[in-house]
Amino acid sequence: MTSDPTDRVLIVGGGVAGLAVARALHRRNVPALVLERCSGPGDAGLAINLPGNAIRALAELGLADALVRAGTAIRHRSYRTERDRTLFGIDEGAFWDADAQPRCMRRADLLHLLRLGLPDETVRENCGVSAIRQDETGVTVELADGTSERGSLLVGADGVRSTVRRALFGETALGAAVLARASWRFMAPNPGIDGWTLWSGRRGLLLLIPVEGEAYGWAALTGDVPESSDLAAAASVFGSFPRPVRETLASILARPDSIYHSPLEEVRIPRWSRGRVLLVGDAAHATAPVWAQGAAMALEDALVLAGLLADCPDWGTVGETYERLRRPRVEHVQAMKDRVSRSARLPGWLQRRLLPIVGPKSYRSTYEPLRQSVLQA
Ligand SMILES: Cc1cc2nc3c(=O)[nH]c(=O)nc-3n(C[C@H](O)[C@H](O)[C@H](O)COP(=O)(O)OP(=O)(O)OC[C@H]3O[C@@H](n4cnc5c(N)ncnc54)[C@H](O)[C@@H]3O)c2cc1C
Repeated sequence: MTSDPTDRVLIVGGGVAGLAVARALHRRNVPALVLERCSGPGDAGLAINLPGNAIRALAELGLADALVRAGTAIRHRSYRTERDRTLFGIDEGAFWDADAQPRCMRRADLLHLLRLGLPDETVRENCGVSAIRQDETGVTVELADGTSERGSLLVGADGVRSTVRRALFGETALGAAVLARASWRFMAPNPGIDGWTLWSGRRGLLLLIPVEGEAYGWAALTGDVPESSDLAAAASVFGSFPRPVRETLASILARPDSIYHSPLEEVRIPRWSRGRVLLVGDAAHATAPVWAQGAAMALEDALVLAGLLADCPDWGTVGETYERLRRPRVEHVQAMKDRVSRSARLPGWLQRRLLPIVGPKSYRSTYEPLRQSVLQA
């Protein structure tokens, strides 16, 4: 049965993926309603690193001008040992085109950008979805407050522990990322870095990225260390790391409330849609943030899906096309993530020999296929 194309899309989840879908649909004059369980972003204080393809996707969502004032441009990467020896560097400014220069920005600012120009009534907060039911003409969702909403199509953008995915396919085993046993994100005073800087050692790695006068950080335990959610207990792993790392850790451990424990959970499932329900972003394909592609893949999902919904009168059949168009780029990112995760487990002496050669190649082979706009790929 053909749906009425002027009918609305329900979107469960108002994170990067959900707001991007709402924005992309709004630009195509397709009505949508976002149902978000929380009010305000959960980790508003944190930042997010956006490689060039994420920036290009944001520009394609009409945000090119707003982006210039958001966050901090990232022009180079430095990969270093725990003794502060440079393994290799990447000139990101030269790699990405002028209109796709990587940036790091606060998550709250990214969510704010995605909402710019959206009618207020498009996003409803404090609205958790507890159940979904689809039939031939549409989908009904039940909300935690006992009310319900209906649309012609439903997009599950509700993150790695997606309720929508569970309703479609049952319980999915979440993959534990090979890369790290435990990880934490935080904001800290900038200890003097001016680009993306990663220090990796035998049992841990720490990444710092400058953002608006501060540094956004990610610390992770690798190798044979016990799983932990307590960074203070694991801090000895970083005892031999250089001064900027030790200073940063000392400063955040003095403010434990500012540390955000971030388990690295992955989703790999054979289908992202069934009938009139589709999954986007982490709900469909959460991947450890080795190449910082979570937001980029979510934004690209949104652009592709909105194009299909705007052009195809029968929303009951778009799922298959959406998956066919999106799988190759997502699977490329997953494969490149797997490759790097495995190399992070090699003995330190071998990493130090291999990385200066393999590292730049790995960067290029990951990002080269993503340089082209998803709308032209
Ligand atoms: C340690 C770590 C570091 C990362 N770093 C980066 C990075 O630097 N760059 C990058 O691009 N990506 C990074 N990511 C990944 C990135 O955060 C996500 O891939 C991206 O934000 C897309 O998320 P999403 O919108 O699909 O899901 P989420 O951000 O999880 O949003 C889901 C939304 O759905 C809502 N929700 C959940 N259930 C319901 C329900 N039942 N009803 C209604 N609403 C619901 C939630 O409240 C939430 O707002 C990182 C991830 C981790 C774990």
